[in-house]
Amino acid sequence: MKLFTVGPVEMYERTKQQASRQLPYFRTIEFSHTMFSIQERLKTFVQLANGYVVPITGSGTAAMEAVCACSFRSHHRVLIINGGSFGERFSSICDCYHIPHDDILLPYPQPLQQSDLDAIDGSKYDAILVNLHETSTGQLYNMRMLTAFAQKYHLYIIVDAISAFIADDIQMDHDAIDVLILSSQKALALAPGLSMIAIQERFYQKMIEPKEDICQYLSIKLHVANMKRGQTPFTPAVGILLDLEDRLTQLEHDGFLLEQQVIRERAMYFRNRIKAFQVNIPSFPLSNALTPIYIENRAEGLFHYLKDKGFMLTPSGGALQPHLLRVGHLGNLQLKDYDELIQAMEEYGL
Ligand SMILES: *Cc1c(COP(=O)(O)O)cnc(C)c1O
Repeated sequence: MKLFTVGPVEMYERTKQQASRQLPYFRTIEFSHTMFSIQERLKTFVQLANGYVVPITGSGTAAMEAVCACSFRSHHRVLIINGGSFGERFSSICDCYHIPHDDILLPYPQPLQQSDLDAIDGSKYDAILVNLHETSTGQLYNMRMLTAFAQKYHLYIIVDAISAFIADDIQMDHDAIDVLILSSQKALALAPGLSMIAIQERFYQKMIEPKEDICQYLSIKLHVANMKRGQTPFTPAVGILLDLEDRLTQLEHDGFLLEQQVIRERAMYFRNRIKAFQVNIPSFPLSNALTPIYIENRAEGLFHYLKDKGFMLTPSGGALQPHLLRVGHLGNLQLKDYDELIQAMEEYGL
């Protein structure tokens, strides 16, 4: 089975080979070095000069929840770009923690536009919460537009870049991003279960450090305090952290931007080849991570046909389920894998 999904994705040989090893004990100086090396490399890759990267053992949603729970209270108000199920997730998390929020709702296939922001009085808010790439639809938001809006009204910017990391451009310092959320199972092509929160020092000092914790396992304060010695408050996903260190070393060696280029190349190749088919690709800006294809009432049929042939695409949930399929470009995939996929799509009769 070939995975054209967005997470877990096709893993690299090195990662798969490492899976059989004995895990080490982690309260050691050696493991602390692993943690520091992960932090430094990730800071370089996301272009964060002053701040922290803390690992949360849990899928990406755990990190989204940690950031909301540790940064905002009921006297704040946040603006959520809600263009699909991941935007909706931020919304539900804020509801759980009684964080007042307003959502810019973008029903598929509506793009986020400058006029959406112009219609809003930004002075009512403390922060913007956005999923840079709304993975449920494939829409990539315009970071520059959001940064300009946030700077105009002095808002913090919290970015879930879980599916955008590596695939798309992200520069924390340049784009004035205060918190960036990453996860192991997307472009990093590792097992699910580990997420990372990159935090600007000034945001940490102002919004997280002074607050009394309302949670324990997801406490960013406990994680930052422990990370000062390269440790975590609780037993972390030791194996995924070791795989992550290896993957980051590899990315550093091969060139981080080269990996982005390779993902982009796959996306362009696939998008170009499917022009011959009767499918609709939405006109909003797309992430390099995946290509959404809209085929009215045929998505489920095609999904099952391809799955039986050994090609796993990403199905959609909710109202889009009968119509939208997503073809991933992350992980260990080659252009010839797309040739095979396209041939199977042809055989289905697209
Ligand atoms: C995958 C993903 C997440 C995390 O989802 P989990 O199921 O908790 O791993 C969050 N946000 C976005 C945009 C994602 O693509």
